[in-house]
Amino acid sequence: MTPYDATFLQGSGPQRSGLHAPAPLIDGFGRTVTYLRVSVTDRCDLRCVYCMAEHMTFLPKKDLLTLEELDRVASAFITLGVRKLRLTGGEPLVRKGIMNLIGGLSRHLASGALDELTLTTNGTRLEAFAAPLAAAGVRRINVSMDTRRPDLFRKLTRGGDLAAVMAGLKAARAEGMAVKINAVALASDNARELPELIAWAHGEGMDITLIETMPLGEIEADRTDQYLSLRQVRTELESFWTLEDLPLSTGGPARYVRVAETGGRLGFITPLSHNFCESCNRVRLTCTGVLHTCLGQEDERDLRAVLRAGASDADLVAAIRRAVDAKPQGHDFQIARSASPAVARHMSTTGG
Ligand code: SAM
Ligand code: SF4
Repeated sequence: MTPYDATFLQGSGPQRSGLHAPAPLIDGFGRTVTYLRVSVTDRCDLRCVYCMAEHMTFLPKKDLLTLEELDRVASAFITLGVRKLRLTGGEPLVRKGIMNLIGGLSRHLASGALDELTLTTNGTRLEAFAAPLAAAGVRRINVSMDTRRPDLFRKLTRGGDLAAVMAGLKAARAEGMAVKINAVALASDNARELPELIAWAHGEGMDITLIETMPLGEIEADRTDQYLSLRQVRTELESFWTLEDLPLSTGGPARYVRVAETGGRLGFITPLSHNFCESCNRVRLTCTGVLHTCLGQEDERDLRAVLRAGASDADLVAAIRRAVDAKPQGHDFQIARSASPAVARHMSTTGG
């Protein structure tokens, strides 16, 4: 099978998912899994200080799932009731052939099996990709950007060019995509700029979500120095803005408010809190085919081994069901001055 078949894009191809309605993916705690995040590569053109080491050793290409394997696993999840698929990385838009994968997966949008196919990107290549992404049915996109100051952006990303991201944002919006900005809150770097960043995003008609740093992956900096509590940020914002809680829940660690003064939506992602685990609807697939059913636990299931052992579709589905059945009840993050992070894998491998 090639992962890309233009007839699917036109909605006239066979609608493979949706033919049968197998039992949904329900874990041992009664939670239904409807959201899959897939890291399509561990590589990236940036080196954000909280995400990667300056000199990263990337995985050998043979260890990565091929585009066909990625399509196969994602499609199996969709058959099992996943309605939302987010591609991430590393930087998804640096993966060679990424539009073949996305174009192929868009058949599930055309068939109605999938509600949303979306991406989290650093935006550096978005200017070139916006049009093909929109043509493949990508309607919303998350773009990570922690500052609007070119010098600070260069420092935080170790060399990134903010102008490229701004051009990417413009192109995505010109294609009619809804853009959400993701910004990691960093005590020593962008803390003071956050109100201005929020006001700018809202002024441009974009949602923005602040993210607390997570103890994932070995990096040089002492992460406790970068940690900024979003509770503290919220308190400060409330000293000059009115934040109205929104009932919106995505089944993940984000909580949303409306800023009355700007009219825009603001999210807070506090992954260190436990208060979202009971409604968690998501699982993550790494670029090497390891399925993690909880971001904060070392649980894993190697689906690449299953695939490369010549698994039938039934074998693959059975492996996925076994993994989801064992999804942990909750996670166990701690920011401590310990030598190693709570979870040793990098965000760029797991997919943020
Ligand atoms: N390269 C893409 C990007 O930057 O949007 C997608 C992958 S990136 C790993 C996904 C998200 O994870 C980004 O918003 C990034 O800021 C966030 N992230 C990376 N490392 C993190 C950490 N240690 N703590 C919290 N968020 C992190
Ligand atoms: Fe790359 Fe995204 Fe990690 Fe930054 S956060 S280094 S852009 S994967």
